Amino acid sequence: MIVGEQKPLAEIKKTVAPYKKLLILGCGTCVKTCFAGGEDEVATLTSALRLTLKKDGKEIEIEELTIERQCEDEFIQEAAEAIARNDAVLSLACGAGVQDIARRFDKVPVLPGVNTTFIGVLEKQGLFTEECVGCGDCELATFGGICPIARCSKRLLNGPCGGSKDGKCEIDPDIDCAWQLIIDRLKTLGQLDNLRNYIPPKDWRSSNAGGPRKLVREDHII
Ligand code: SF4
Ligand code: SF4
Repeated sequence: MIVGEQKPLAEIKKTVAPYKKLLILGCGTCVKTCFAGGEDEVATLTSALRLTLKKDGKEIEIEELTIERQCEDEFIQEAAEAIARNDAVLSLACGAGVQDIARRFDKVPVLPGVNTTFIGVLEKQGLFTEECVGCGDCELATFGGICPIARCSKRLLNGPCGGSKDGKCEIDPDIDCAWQLIIDRLKTLGQLDNLRNYIPPKDWRSSNAGGPRKLVREDHII
């Protein structure tokens, strides 16, 4: 999922200051799962914002709504009327959701209420970890299903660096050494020979180093 974190209230308050009627728009998919922008977070933020603005003597009408996804037109349309009757939208989606709303409603300011952080997983209750940087050329088969690009502090494709201690990374002892994990996993799978092959420098054009990317599925174009 895409993991994000709600922006601090003080920053949100500053961003919405110029508007009299605001729609706080949640997204019911990734940001809901990471407690940044689902229905509950929309309700909590709406109350907090109302309270703090009232204390400051500012009048603002706030409407709340959460749709299934802000990155898909089918769901975005459900918000069309609410968007039309407000001066601005504070989107609690990831950066893609914010931009998709802005693309479809070009006369309404769409403000981000979430800092989008990474593609990750819920490793355990309350802990989200980065697992993929969307490099566009997945090599997980070589690495036993553990991504050194996302999870090794030095992004080494031919690791380890030799600095890990007790299975922890020398850069950040709070995280597991990705290469230790890769070696352990390849051992379990009987695939340690994978490491005999030198991995050449990666061609980063398939990642965002090659500029904005797009995916065309001819078979889905009508
Ligand atoms: S190799 Fe690339 S696509 Fe695969 S998990 Fe790592 S960053 Fe993501
Ligand atoms: S200790 Fe492990 S995770 Fe940390 S930089 Fe070295 S190889 Fe990468």
